[in-house]
Parts: sequence; C-alpha cells; structure tokens
Amino acid sequence: MKELVLEVPKVSWDDIGGQEDVKEQLKEMVELPITAAESFRRLGISAPKGLLLYGPPGCSKTLTAKALASESGLNFLAIKGPEIFNKYVGESEKTIREIFHKARMSAPSIIFIDEIDAIATNRDDDGSGHVSKQVLNTMLNEMDGVEELKGVVIIGATNRPDVIDPALLRPGRLDTRVYVSPPDKEARYQIFEKNTKNYNLQNKESFLTKLSDMTDGFSGSECVFLCRKAGVNAVKEERDCKIVKEEHFLEAFKGIQKNITPEMLEYYRDFESKYAVA
Ligand code: ADP
Repeated sequence: MKELVLEVPKVSWDDIGGQEDVKEQLKEMVELPITAAESFRRLGISAPKGLLLYGPPGCSKTLTAKALASESGLNFLAIKGPEIFNKYVGESEKTIREIFHKARMSAPSIIFIDEIDAIATNRDDDGSGHVSKQVLNTMLNEMDGVEELKGVVIIGATNRPDVIDPALLRPGRLDTRVYVSPPDKEARYQIFEKNTKNYNLQNKESFLTKLSDMTDGFSGSECVFLCRKAGVNAVKEERDCKIVKEEHFLEAFKGIQKNITPEMLEYYRDFESKYAVA
C-alpha cells in the first residue's frame, strides 16, 4: 500500500525556528521514555502512548513530528487522515490495522497521523458517519492493545481539534495535547534567517528584525513563502541575480494574505481551556 510510508525524515530541531517549549515537551514525552526505557521501567514511570499536536495550519506540527523522529532515531510512519478513507467499506480499517502492525514491527517508532480530524470526527452529519465510526473504533482497538504497542508512539496533528471524537482523547490514547502556536517574533526571525541564507542581504540583522516586526500573525509557512516570493522577484528583475533586496521583500509582502485570524486563536484557546489539566 503506497500510503503506508515508512521513512526516516531528515529534519533537525534546528530546522524549526522557535517553538522551544514544544520541542522540550516532545523530547520529554516521547524521546526520553524510549531512550531511557530501562529507567522508566525500573522506576515504574509510565510513558504517554499518544499525543495530539493542534494549532493553526502551517505552524510546524508536521515539521516537529519529523524532527522528533529524526533526532531520536525512531522509525516514522506517516499518513494523512483523509488518505485512510477509502470508498470501499473495510479498506480503511485494514489500512489502520496495517499501519499499527508495521509500527510494531519497526518499533521504536512513531505513527504520525496528519489531519487526524478526518478519521476521528464526532460529527455524523455528512452521511459517512457509519464508516467513520468503524474506522475510529478500529483505531481505538489498536491503541488499546497496550502491551503490544510497546515502543510505538502515536502522534496526531490537527487544525480542528474540536471535531475529534472525545473517545480518542481519553487517558491511554491521545491523552497529551500540545498546542503548536504561530511563530513569535524571535521564531520568525530564525525562520527568515534560515530561508535567506544565500540572499546576501544588506544590513541583514536590522532588516530581518524589521521583517519580523512586520509579520506579526504570519504562520511559519507564510514566512517561508515570503522569502521564496522575494527571491523570485529578485530573479525576475535580474536573471543572473546574486542579491535579494529589501524592495523585493516589500513587494512580496503586499501579495500575502494572512490565514490566521484572531478568531482562530480564540478557538484554540477555548479548546485548550476545555482540556486543561487540573
Ligand atoms: P503544519 O503541520 O502545522 O500544518 P508544517 O509543519 O507542515 O505545518 O509546516 C509547513 C511548512 O512551513 C514547513 O515545511 C516549513 O517550511 C514551514 N514552517 C512552519 N513553521 C516553521 C518553523 N517554526 N520553522 C521553520 N519552518 C517552518
């Protein structure tokens, strides 16, 4: 099955601008229990089986899961929620069972389910409710096979945490939730720095600071896109271009529409407070 991708991503923690808290949390929750498995066993500390990364689109959820796998040397099985769905009844469940089987065989490993809301939806109003319930149940059964799942961590990612069936968020399943926020000013600076390495920017430091100030509310992917667009603008102007100038960025900036709205951030805060650990 082509969608059962087993890969070793080459993403390092340093490739991710900012998000220091998220990086630390994941190292502690996922990497430590596996790399220090013996001590965890000896001390009787349980490790989380699964976690949910949630937050606005383009803000490094996928990148983070890849860095985690890459840096800790874990195998990485990635799948997108909507891809699991298949119009033939039974195929989706088979796909899920195969992913978990493969993950157990290649443990220690991470099963990364992007757009997990597509599988684990609690809405029954689109006519596909019956199939999605079966798919969800299959996933819950696989997750509940505790003993067998040793060394397998499930990471789900979503932009829409509220449509996820609460059954999936219960203890022993995706019981740890991590909010991945849009990049703050410092993080944006780092993203710009990484993505303009070969641009020969003049007054680099002050320009990148200015750019970071101008881009409040941008997602990580919008910051990357801005750099790319500025580069393209420079090349359009001069084919044999060696330097990208401020004006190229300003022009690129005009054409970018921010996707993240204050209402969206409010929505994530609501979810966070609903599931806040007492
Ligand atoms: P999500 O899974 O949250 O929708 P991704 O992790 O797929 O977002 O990010 C999309 C792209 O945006 C990445 O491939 C990367 O190029 C860029 N990006 C997002 N956030 C960051 C960040 N903090 N540092 C560096 N690049 C980032």
